Amino acid sequence: MGNNKDTSAELQQLRRQLSELHDEVARNDGILRKSQERELALLQAGDLRALFRTMVIGLADSFGLAQVTVVIFDPDHDLRHLLVAGGTQPGDLPGLMFVDTLAGLAPQYVSLQKPWLGQYSAPDHQLIFPARDDIASIAMIPLVHKERVVGSLNFGSNVGSRFTREHATDFFKHLSIIASFALENAVNRARLRRSGFTDVLTGWNNRRYLQVRLGEELARARRDGSNLVCLMIDIDHFKRVNDTHGHAAGDEVLIELAQRIESEVRASDVAARYGGEEFVVLLPNTDTDSGVLLAERIRRSISSAPIKLRYDGPVTITASIGIAGIAPDQVDDELKTIGEALIARADVALYAAKAAGRDQVAVDSVNAAVA
Ligand code: GH3
Ligand code: MG
Ligand code: MG
Repeated sequence: MGNNKDTSAELQQLRRQLSELHDEVARNDGILRKSQERELALLQAGDLRALFRTMVIGLADSFGLAQVTVVIFDPDHDLRHLLVAGGTQPGDLPGLMFVDTLAGLAPQYVSLQKPWLGQYSAPDHQLIFPARDDIASIAMIPLVHKERVVGSLNFGSNVGSRFTREHATDFFKHLSIIASFALENAVNRARLRRSGFTDVLTGWNNRRYLQVRLGEELARARRDGSNLVCLMIDIDHFKRVNDTHGHAAGDEVLIELAQRIESEVRASDVAARYGGEEFVVLLPNTDTDSGVLLAERIRRSISSAPIKLRYDGPVTITASIGIAGIAPDQVDDELKTIGEALIARADVALYAAKAAGRDQVAVDSVNAAVA
């Protein structure tokens, strides 16, 4: 009988252990499945916007975190432009930050070769968790491209023991690899798509690009209370070039013209081929008078030297330029409406320059009246 009792006690303990083991397996299974789901969500993000959304919103939700931020080292504004070209302003995604330098942002960036887990400290981390005072512990997960840290995914928890130096970081290392891969993938796809913003003949930005950047520059000008100037440049009697020298020669002229305009504008200006032989330059943070000076320089650089042609004698061309300026913070209209009006006014000024005899610069009547 005693034997039986022993056996049943042993059996009970065995059952208990088995059930605990079963629970643990189920728990681990659940954790594994959940982390696989999160990684899949990163890998499946269709574009940059979706990926950044998954990072700052999706991961915060699924990990139950106070905040997730993404810092991207983007000194050439390359990624920011890719995102904007896709129709998203970085400000639309709270927690997403594009920065010119990582080092000054948090001391961990100096050697963020592997994930850093530890206590939140305001002097060190308030720039990567802006406007938060409830973060207690953080995980900084490096985003890596070609073995260089190009940013980080930052997890902020309001529980101090959530992320500590003692935590195993294997999981975060894995997440770092997946997130870096997903970012690189999305950037490559955005670049491919953006080739739709390039003019094939001149290699310049095209009209679609101009439209996107016009919106961006108007928004910035409204924010800063600054003025934006638009130049509309059209070659005079370009049909004659085609008729006299052929279309291939006309193409050569367009390519040379684009280069001459480009050499006069600043890197911060937005230049695009707007139509056949029409070019537009946006001058951010510029008043109309300075716009006129630049337009005169462009006009002279076009007419001053003949353009060499491959199969024909050189041709001298001239161009007319229309100018309009706007301070978007002085106008109540939507930015889209303001942008369309700005282009239309530059176009009207262009036709005034044509009517006045070509090879000249004309200012839109609204701006001319103010000046
Ligand atoms: P205006 O001084 O009034 O501007 O005279 P224009 O001859 O330039 O007049 P218009 O703007 O009507 O003509 C533009 C011409 O540009 C017509 C079109 O065939 C030509 N064109 C447009 N795109 C291209 C191109 O990519 N290559 C070449 N070779 N010609 C082009
Ligand atoms: Mg034209
Ligand atoms: Mg023309």
